[in-house]
Amino acid sequence: MDDLFDLYVIGGGINGCGIARDAAGRDLRVGLCEMGDLAGATSSASTKLFHGGLRYLEYLEINLVRKALVERETLLTAMPHISWPMRFVLPFHPEMRFEGETPVSRMLSKVMPWMKGRRPAWLVRLGLLMYDNLGGRKILPATKTLDLTTDPAGAPLDDRFETAFEYSDCWVEDSRLVVLNARDAAERGAEILVRTKCVGAERTGDHWVIELEDVETGEKLTRRARCLVNAGGPWVENIVRNTVRVNSSEGVRLVRGSHIVVKRLFDHDRAYFLQGTDGRIMFAIPYQEDFTLIGTTDKDHDGPPGEVHCTKEEADYMRRFVADYFKTDIAEDDIVWTYSGVRPLYDDGAKSATAATRDYVLSLDTAGGQAPLLNVFGGKITTYRKLSEAAFAKLATELETGEDWTAGVALPGGDFPVDGVDALRERIVEAAPFLDAKTVRRLQRAYGTDALRILDGATVEGDLGRHFGAGLYERELVWLMDREWARTAADVAWRRSKLGLRLTKEEVDAIDHWMRKRRAQL
Ligand SMILES: Cc1cc2nc3c(=O)[nH]c(=O)nc-3n(C[C@H](O)[C@H](O)[C@H](O)COP(=O)(O)OP(=O)(O)OC[C@H]3O[C@@H](n4cnc5c(N)ncnc54)[C@H](O)[C@@H]3O)c2cc1C
Repeated sequence: MDDLFDLYVIGGGINGCGIARDAAGRDLRVGLCEMGDLAGATSSASTKLFHGGLRYLEYLEINLVRKALVERETLLTAMPHISWPMRFVLPFHPEMRFEGETPVSRMLSKVMPWMKGRRPAWLVRLGLLMYDNLGGRKILPATKTLDLTTDPAGAPLDDRFETAFEYSDCWVEDSRLVVLNARDAAERGAEILVRTKCVGAERTGDHWVIELEDVETGEKLTRRARCLVNAGGPWVENIVRNTVRVNSSEGVRLVRGSHIVVKRLFDHDRAYFLQGTDGRIMFAIPYQEDFTLIGTTDKDHDGPPGEVHCTKEEADYMRRFVADYFKTDIAEDDIVWTYSGVRPLYDDGAKSATAATRDYVLSLDTAGGQAPLLNVFGGKITTYRKLSEAAFAKLATELETGEDWTAGVALPGGDFPVDGVDALRERIVEAAPFLDAKTVRRLQRAYGTDALRILDGATVEGDLGRHFGAGLYERELVWLMDREWARTAADVAWRRSKLGLRLTKEEVDAIDHWMRKRRAQL
């Protein structure tokens, strides 16, 4: 039965693509179908942090925080192009309120009832000390205290903030993380099908028969696999009930989070961790050189998973929240872009959306010795690689899963040292001295050493083909179509890159037209 896959994965978000890559490196025959674009759902709508999750310490989710903190540096080393260390400034003010329903809050309200949801500075410092030490840092610098009256991080902030704590986490380009996992999977032999929906799956003896549909042409395809992995993210429960149709009492809790992107609010490369008067937190992060990313909200989502957008109420809330910290106001028309996604959290019955666990849950269904189905609930971008290892530990009784191998193994383009970013940039400048500095930085961050392959042999600008605007040339577009499954201008402008922030509507239309024409000719 040589058309039999060992594993078929439904869903091309970070969890599906991470599992596909891991499987391919274990010499398993693996396929993956994604009904839209890779990272088309939650995995391009995150805050884009490899982080332990400072606020989860308040929920005493120590294991989750430790696991994620240790993972930050493992991931950073494997992808120093799309991920980089970031310092976070946490301005301290005695009036800041923390979440009221956390185990730490409840404990404190007993021993220090007069604090009423506030935290003394020493307690915040203690939390950061834990954060510093739980995860065995080697690369990332430790927490320090800042005097905001002299440190440049204090300059844009309201004068009432005089002290801050500065700690480390990492940034990651989330949608590129997904596509690079898919690329590595494909280079190791995986089948990756985009715009292909799984419309049904049935157990037949010891394997699954999986029905797929090309959503652009309506063409039907069939695949057979020993194991089926449901990494449908917000659709995970829907797939269990309506596509695979197995009995399960497990459910997903959809929690919407929105972000706004505004014109740059400050002039340095550190981010802010802001504590509100309502107990929530908000990040203000330097974004794409000229912008600031602000987020996120946390609301139960009742609508279909695919219909999600940042409401005016959410945008106003985030503007007000952040403006309260800064000297300058944020006007409605300072917002240049908004995005929104739903967290597919495991439904653990928590009271509020904010309190629902962020850890992942993997549930294996073998229907009494038949072909296995593995359902993936929850998880974070930060823990995708560990989640995949845990998936293969679960499947070890069903498949020859071999050894874990992904820790520290570079993703495509990431084969250079974490401190080699400047050296790589110089190599790119040498290879293409005609490119402007912003484009060089963008190519280096998006593609790492693969930027040199994209530019290979170009000695003058014209060698890169048509220029579509904002430093995007035909040569890069061909790369994205041929090697990164880009089909539409939106795939290019909002997921393979964030050039959508710079391109005009006419330029986007021209890209779309060019891509359609090229696809028709292939
Ligand atoms: C607002 C917000 C902020 C976040 N910030 C962070 C952060 O800073 N750091 C962090 O570590 N984590 C963060 N997360 C969490 C993280 O983004 C998610 O846990 C993760 O992206 C989930 O990935 P996934 O692969 O499970 O789901 P998804 O990315 O949603 O992928 C599931 C895919 O399955 C596809 N699919 C569904 N049904 C079918 C079908 N029948 N056939 C084919 N394909 C199908 C969908 O199209 C989708 O692309 C954040 C989440 C949100 C919402």
